[in-house]
Amino acid sequence: DDRIAHISSTIRVIPDFPKPGIMFQDITTMLLDPVAFKDSIDLFVERYKDKDISVVAGVEARGFIFGPPIALAIGAKFVPMRKPNKLPGAVISEEYSLEYGTDIMEMHVGAVEVGERTLVIDDLIATGGTLVAAINLLERVGANVVECACVIELPDLKGRDRLGDKPLFVLFSRY
Ligand code: IMP
Repeated sequence: DDRIAHISSTIRVIPDFPKPGIMFQDITTMLLDPVAFKDSIDLFVERYKDKDISVVAGVEARGFIFGPPIALAIGAKFVPMRKPNKLPGAVISEEYSLEYGTDIMEMHVGAVEVGERTLVIDDLIATGGTLVAAINLLERVGANVVECACVIELPDLKGRDRLGDKPLFVLFSRY
């Protein structure tokens, strides 16, 4: 698909951010290109429009950029998966491990009904820990997580393996 190469070309790589040795994939430069941004949304919408998905769950922060336009286009609700102590209502929390230490992800109780077909969206999968936390949280409230989707996969970090048999769709990989 010609659109993928163009999208990939708009994503800037910043070496040594946020710390030495990390090659940070910066999707903000894609957002400056309306064709690339729209094409990325269209590619997800083409994949998910007839899949009976009623929930798009976006992971803070960049899942909040891609999730809502996809949700609107496929007629699903958007559910934010947030960093701790951000959501005002009653929450369910999931602790997960990072390279150093742990983090917490939260969602509002009642946002997703038992059995709802759910898509999880984020900008990038590295080790997969973030998506696993999102899946666990959603499945604890009875969601049927049908797939995870990201713009970028870093295959060297083998995040896909951590998802087990949960399907992962990405627009492209960076090595
Ligand atoms: P993981 O949990 O190791 O898979 O890391 C994925 C999470 O970290 C996602 O929420 C990403 O937004 C973020 N992340 C990690 N590396 C990058 C990067 O190079 N660019 C943008 N986001 C990143």
